[in-house]
Amino acid sequence: MTLPLPDTSPVTPQCSAKGCRADAVWVLAWNNPKLHTPERRKTWLACEEHREHLSKFLGVRGFLKDVMKLDEWEDRRPPESTEG
Ligand SMILES: [Zn+2]
Repeated sequence: MTLPLPDTSPVTPQCSAKGCRADAVWVLAWNNPKLHTPERRKTWLACEEHREHLSKFLGVRGFLKDVMKLDEWEDRRPPESTEG
């Protein structure tokens, strides 16, 4: 049972902030050394409004590795899971 999805427009990535459905502009790359190997990168997406909030959230935990524009990120590597 598969829902019919529109196959025309690519899905615009959305901000990872809770309840936010704005288009993502930023990628926050992070790593939790207790869970991930050092070279592993998890990613959160953020709109302009939530970039600072999400960066701080990761920053205070020492998880934040990189913040870059979404288009820059996509140039660098294939899209990855944003869950977690
Ligand atoms: Zn947002």
